[in-house]
Amino acid sequence: MFNDEQLERYSRQLMVDELDLAGQEALAAARVLIAGCGGLANPAALYLAGAGVGRLVLADDDRVEVSNLHRQVAFRGGQVNQFKAEALRDQLQQLNPEVDVRAAVVRVDDAWLEVAVAEATLVLDCTDNFVTRQAINRACVRYRKPLVSGAAIRMDGQLAVFDLRAPEAPCYACVYGEGTDGDLACNQAGIVGPVVGTVGTLQALAAIRVLSGAQLGGKLHLFDGRSLDWRQVTLRQDPGCAVCGTNHDGE
Ligand SMILES: [Zn+2]
Repeated sequence: MFNDEQLERYSRQLMVDELDLAGQEALAAARVLIAGCGGLANPAALYLAGAGVGRLVLADDDRVEVSNLHRQVAFRGGQVNQFKAEALRDQLQQLNPEVDVRAAVVRVDDAWLEVAVAEATLVLDCTDNFVTRQAINRACVRYRKPLVSGAAIRMDGQLAVFDLRAPEAPCYACVYGEGTDGDLACNQAGIVGPVVGTVGTLQALAAIRVLSGAQLGGKLHLFDGRSLDWRQVTLRQDPGCAVCGTNHDGE
């Protein structure tokens, strides 16, 4: 149950039927892993901490750079050179001390994910490279955890929920294959702040919806920051997928 201060803090979202007290309790009980602490994770983590998710684990081994500040909106100029995971944790704790925030200054790899994903209720992929994205997907398939995947480059954004609790759900590799080539990082291609912020914000919303019991998933949402248009593509499980295919055959 929530005390008076908590009820006041969350009062405006508690009024919303889709969340309600049951949804708030589900958020408080949840443990969300946020992989990557850059332009997607910054707004996502701010909203999830504000909303009262019980525990947030923030993973990144990079440091804040001046060139990050135009889009990584949780960071302040005085935090340049700090580890992103720790800088983000400090901002979230100021926003909402109720939330248990853990900073993990680690390279997100298979071994680390093995434990971190197993312990998570839901995972946000806010990373910027295919090797890590594939590793996160494999762990989420193995432990059947909902995965909210975001990406943005230049003026384009992508968002997809892979609710891997459902046996028929497509996974990241069903859509993108198992390739790890073709990385186009923001430091080479560029990115406009509100484009990545839009996707990160919607990752937080998707997480709140899934944690409060909604059935999401099966769609890729494509955002065009030039026209502000959204486009939806329906996703299906690939029976030949090397990641989730064998898993769903019951091994
Ligand atoms: Zn798959």
